[in-house]
Amino acid sequence: MNEAIKTDLVIIGAGAAGLMCAIKAGERGRKVMLIDHANKVGKKILMSGGGRCNFTNLFVDDENFISKNSHYFKSALSRFTQWDFIALVEKHKIPYHEKSLGQLFCDNKASDIVQMLVTEAQSQAVEIRKHCSVTQVDQTATGFVLETSIGSIQCESLVIATGGLSIPTMGASGYGYDIARQFGHQIVTTRAGLVPLTFSEKQLRLFDGLAGLSAEVNVESNGQSFREFMLFTHRGLSGPAILQISSYWKIGEAVTINLLPDLDLLEYLKEVQKTRPKVGLVRVLSEHLAKNLAQHLVNLWCPIKNMADYSYKELEEISEKFSQWRFYPSGTEGYRTAEVTLGGVDPLELSSKTMESKVTKGLYFIGEVVDVTGHLGGFNFQWAWASGAAAGEFV
Ligand SMILES: Cc1cc2nc3c(=O)[nH]c(=O)nc-3n(C[C@H](O)[C@H](O)[C@H](O)COP(=O)(O)OP(=O)(O)OC[C@H]3O[C@@H](n4cnc5c(N)ncnc54)[C@H](O)[C@@H]3O)c2cc1C
Repeated sequence: MNEAIKTDLVIIGAGAAGLMCAIKAGERGRKVMLIDHANKVGKKILMSGGGRCNFTNLFVDDENFISKNSHYFKSALSRFTQWDFIALVEKHKIPYHEKSLGQLFCDNKASDIVQMLVTEAQSQAVEIRKHCSVTQVDQTATGFVLETSIGSIQCESLVIATGGLSIPTMGASGYGYDIARQFGHQIVTTRAGLVPLTFSEKQLRLFDGLAGLSAEVNVESNGQSFREFMLFTHRGLSGPAILQISSYWKIGEAVTINLLPDLDLLEYLKEVQKTRPKVGLVRVLSEHLAKNLAQHLVNLWCPIKNMADYSYKELEEISEKFSQWRFYPSGTEGYRTAEVTLGGVDPLELSSKTMESKVTKGLYFIGEVVDVTGHLGGFNFQWAWASGAAAGEFV
């Protein structure tokens, strides 16, 4: 029988959080083994930000994170900030730019970030093992023993960095939640976040032909609102505004969409009625929305007349349709296309300082597997870096 591999620390999951944790623990002289069942490390980093990785945001704020415990993430985020990650990116001379709203992207490709993290990990003698799957984990008197496809591994500390459930084809698995349950943790119910919302059969017919059209809108659901672009697709609504609000929307509820957020629409229509009475409604709305979109929605929602011929009540109804469209999605596209998983390992059972389990000593949870989810815009990576760094300082 082969002897067990012995190491100080095993990290399961060589994604964003796992790589950062490995680097920080390695810097402290810990002997680290970073294992992943996939054929490549950092696969989600590679596909992120349209291949350019939106690796952080200039304006990281507590308001950008969703968790059952709205205090849990603060400590880690304040100890490893966006500036720490930017400093690392600059140290490696990776060119980057701000796209909008503080979102930082690589100029070239996301693999620059993976290469940077792997180089840092290797310089700390981190042992990275790909194609390594774990079949069993048991606690021992001195730590943990893992049965894996490369043999038994004994370690003092075990870090779970297996990410969430989105994009199963990229190596996502529910394994982190299984381990959490095995060691006595509660899981805050998981669901897809930052995900397109879908049309019902009826809505598909009503909005047929609009795929590809977009508008800058204000969306609101459950007391949260976002002002960004929305895109009609063949299946429903997407674009940053919709992805953001999807993390707050609950099945059966409405998303209220203001298609003309820069206008007090009723006042505007009343004004146009006076100044341009012979102009048609489609023409008026086309000055602020894509023409095909204005045309389609006027056909769907309004009597078609010249401005002079609308009654006050009709103007009120038109303005309500366009500035408070109550859209009831049939659902979401689910984990197949979601960027993140909401919910996860209950933060109330983890130390916010070290990320260690309060239930099982020596066991740590970091990154997306924990019930902390960021808004769109680099916040999910910032949580992965920060929680990975926090655990790396203590494991
Ligand atoms: C298409 C897409 C684009 C995105 N773009 C951005 C962006 O631009 N900016 C941003 O901030 N966030 C983005 N995100 C979200 C971001 O990728 C994640 O929040 C982040 O990767 C989470 O880091 P993590 O280390 O916790 O998990 P991951 O990066 O998912 O890493 C988990 C690792 O664990 C491994 N693993 C899973 N199960 C097992 C197992 N059983 N055994 C061994 N290994 C296992 C996986 O193979 C993977 O390598 C995007 C997500 C998607 C899907």
